[in-house]
Amino acid sequence: MALRNIRNYNEEDTILRKKSKVVKIIDEKTQILLADMADTMYQANGVGLAAPQIGILKRLVVIDVGEGLIKLINPVILERSGEQQDMEGCLSVPDISGEVLRPQKVRIKAQDENGDYFELEGTDLLARAFCHELDHLDGILFIDKILPDTTVSNIEQ
Ligand code: ZN
Repeated sequence: MALRNIRNYNEEDTILRKKSKVVKIIDEKTQILLADMADTMYQANGVGLAAPQIGILKRLVVIDVGEGLIKLINPVILERSGEQQDMEGCLSVPDISGEVLRPQKVRIKAQDENGDYFELEGTDLLARAFCHELDHLDGILFIDKILPDTTVSNIEQ
């Protein structure tokens, strides 16, 4: 088990605002990185983690909304439908939460650790996690999408 440091978002550190690169070679290093990302996510009690959050600009994501670990390499959204509005937070922006509008259901495509393509459908929290984590790969943060007047501070006064 290897834990990585989760980057906290701040204006000076621009890594979370950069676009991540497509993973062209899927090898043992990729598998180790995904395993470390999963360990780091579980340790932080998160439901998802994208590689840029540990300072690595590669299109890699891990998610577990309580239905088992999902590892995604080069994920893309194929379809979105419906709408849901709910509270959202981010391990890289621990100070605030806020309500974000997301699709109720999304269908994604990604590669597994053997490089094979697969498709997955997610509804509710899983759909939200897919959208939130895939946004990270394009330098988009949930704070860009918080609905007006729904921001909540997580810092105890
Ligand atoms: Zn996040």
